[in-house]
Parts: sequence; C-alpha cells; structure tokens
Amino acid sequence: MDGDFDTAASRLRALRAAMLGCVRCDALVGCRTQVVPGHGAAPATVAFVGLAPGRLGGDRTGIPFSGDRSGELLRLMIARADLGRVFITNVVRCNPREGRGRNRDPSAREIANCRDHLTAELAAVRPRVVVCLGAVAWRETAGHDAPFRPRRPVTLRSGGLLLYPMYHPAYIVRGAYSVQAYARDFARLGRLISRLAGARRHTVATSAGQLFRQSNSRPIWE
Ligand code: URA
Repeated sequence: MDGDFDTAASRLRALRAAMLGCVRCDALVGCRTQVVPGHGAAPATVAFVGLAPGRLGGDRTGIPFSGDRSGELLRLMIARADLGRVFITNVVRCNPREGRGRNRDPSAREIANCRDHLTAELAAVRPRVVVCLGAVAWRETAGHDAPFRPRRPVTLRSGGLLLYPMYHPAYIVRGAYSVQAYARDFARLGRLISRLAGARRHTVATSAGQLFRQSNSRPIWE
C-alpha cells in the first residue's frame, strides 16, 4: 500500500514539473500568471474536475479552486461531506482571460491542448469517482453525447473512469442553484462513495479470504 502511495505521488510530481513549463497555447502563455496543475491526494478516493483556474483564484495561488468564492464553496462542501482522499484539478491548467482582463471560457483548441495533462493526472491518482463540475468538464470526460444532468445524477463509466456530474460551484455563487440543494448533492455523493468503498472492502475481504478493512475515510487533502 505504501508503495502505491509513493508511486502515485512521484508520478504526480513528475507530471507537475512537466506541466509547469507548458507552452502549447500562445494566448494562455500570454495571460496566465502561472500554470496551475491539479492538487491533493494521490492516490485519491475522488477527483474533482473544474473548468480552468480563475483570475482571482488559482491563477494567483497556484492551487485549483483556492482563493476565490467558487473555491471556498467547493472546499466547504467537500469538508462537510467527508469524502476521504480528494484531488482537485481542471480541464485547462491556465487562466483564460479576455482583452479587458476578465475570465473567459477556454477555447476548444485550449481544451484539446490540455487534455493529456488531465488524462495523465487521473491515471496517476486513480480516483474511485471523477466528479465533473459543470457541463464542460462532463462533456470532455463523458463525451459530447452524454447529457449533463446534475439534478438526477447517474454514474457513467468511460475510459476506465467512473464519472459523476455536479454543478460547477460558480453556478451556486451566481445564485442559480441553492447552497442547500448543493449540500444535499454533496451528501448524495458521499453516500455513493461510501457504497463504492463498502463494495471494495467486500471484494478485498473475499479475495483475500480474510477480513481486511481498507482505511479510506481520512480526509487527507489540505
Ligand atoms: N477555479 C478553478 O480552479 N476552476 C474553476 O473552474 C473555477 C475556479
């Protein structure tokens, strides 16, 4: 088990080092303050995938979903739902800005350029569930034909990952969906993760022919 942890952490460190020098997108190289790789536990129980670091958040702090209101809300929800080992990343690792300095959505080309960074991160942290925050993260991982339905979420298996749709926290910050409903969505996610952990415990116990409890309930991310 310790070997697993060391391998995941060192793979992630190597990926991070490679990403920090990324110059694939001219526009993003011109407007970003820094590259913002994923951050958190490796291996992870759950990975959250957002859109791109915000101007007031990750672009300043170097950590996805930190330092802005979306990040604050997301991290509060995660802490309350007690989800275990959490990894947080984005579809795109640089802050996209328009001419006047405001956040803009990443272009299709920017998303495509960043795709293998995301794939490599998820392969390194091997999360039991990948939570796609918002329609873009969902589409980019589940495929363009899968409808984004966070109010009636169902898991979808794709590319070896178990995907789960949720609203992006910015949607709640904007007042389009209530904080209470979002908290209920996180509680539902917590139940899903517990069920998956229970199923895994059962499999391990059965295959080892003895009772072996996986300890996966420690909240380890900072
Ligand atoms: N901060 C992030 O890191 N990602 C988002 O999608 C929004 C804010």
